[in-house]
Amino acid sequence: SPKVYTQREHQIDLRLVSRNAIKVCEVLQDKGYQAYIVGGAVRDLILGHEPKDFDVATNATPEKVRSLFRRARIIGRRFRLVHVVFGSEIIETSTFRAAGEQITDEQGRILNDNVFGDIKSDAERRDFTLNALYYDPVKQEVIDYHNGVNDLRRRIVRIIGDAEKRYREDPVRMLRAVRFASKLDATLEKDTHLPIKSLSHLISNVPDSRLFDETFKLLTCGNAMTCLQQLRAEGLHQGVLPLLDIVLKQAGGQEFIELTLARTDHRIRSNKHVSASFLYAALLWPLVQAYQKEEFRKNPDIPPVPALVNATNRVLDEQVQKLALQKRHSAEMREIWLMQPRFAKRSPRFIWRMIEQPYFRAACDFLQIRAASHEFDSVLAQWWMDLANASDGEKATMVNELG
Ligand code: ATP
Ligand code: MG
Repeated sequence: SPKVYTQREHQIDLRLVSRNAIKVCEVLQDKGYQAYIVGGAVRDLILGHEPKDFDVATNATPEKVRSLFRRARIIGRRFRLVHVVFGSEIIETSTFRAAGEQITDEQGRILNDNVFGDIKSDAERRDFTLNALYYDPVKQEVIDYHNGVNDLRRRIVRIIGDAEKRYREDPVRMLRAVRFASKLDATLEKDTHLPIKSLSHLISNVPDSRLFDETFKLLTCGNAMTCLQQLRAEGLHQGVLPLLDIVLKQAGGQEFIELTLARTDHRIRSNKHVSASFLYAALLWPLVQAYQKEEFRKNPDIPPVPALVNATNRVLDEQVQKLALQKRHSAEMREIWLMQPRFAKRSPRFIWRMIEQPYFRAACDFLQIRAASHEFDSVLAQWWMDLANASDGEKATMVNELG
């Protein structure tokens, strides 16, 4: 039977809990169903942090959940859940899953994940003990089947069940183990840690789209550099970020990546948004530059801009598939890169056209990293950033002052 923590024991501050998540639980409970806030939100709440999103788990079926809310839609095929929509907030509501009765492939990877169960089986199929906590915002109780509260307080990432079996079912869990350890400043429990090295190759069976999501979460966990070092130590970077090894070997690559990730960490810790396009544009920039140099070597007469265009095309051709980048990402990355040479000159005639480009701001932000790594004049970079931040009137003054 589970441990039940009262408000006095878990000390969750109800003011940090989304009103909409509470609402979803209340409506379901009023109809006689069980409903709890689960996953990362409970983890954050116990640590006293404000969660960025809320998931709810219930014993009501997806159809039932949908019928109880005015704006709700069932999403996903492999793993069906309901998005209950309140303005800009979405409460992801899933029905308790069963742990057993799953169809797996030859490697043990779970292919179907839609067998319904009760709260106990739902807790069992979650990945780590600190992710398997259920918070009832009405009774203000935390239900804990796997001693997750203690592990969380002691900063221990411990897998639920047999580690090797759980990693074979879903190799992404190995990446998640490393990510949560870095993000929470926690240690991997011994048996959770042990099988990872020998199973790291299983990552190559994971669909690209899932790897993209998980890799992006890794890079934006708020502790990216530690996380990457840890991944490398476990041999997990091979499948996920082979590109980083290539980029790190380019001249100045190491410094550029460290600056990019430090900046990303900083934004995450100040609760700011980080865009995937921006992040990947920055991580791949040293490679773009290396390829541009090769263009000059092959053809000494090629002007810099065509050389840059060829280099960006080559990088995107090579990486789009590997990184599972979507079209909108690669289009945005190209814009950010191709705008860089235009920052070198400040000719009033062109500045207005640059400002109107949709990615002007992102390109300016990008320029700041280049300045920090000494490949662009920092005073000039600051001028562009000021321009991006200025009001329309101030912009006109700044441009007119150039004469
Ligand atoms: P964050 O969103 O901060 O990265 P999270 O714990 O909320 O962390 P999600 O990916 O949003 O992570 O997943 C929500 C919950 O679903 C997790 O807390 C965990 O209980 C469960 N979960 C997610 N992925 C897996 C997985 N691969 N295997 C088992 N359970 C998982
Ligand atoms: Mg989450």
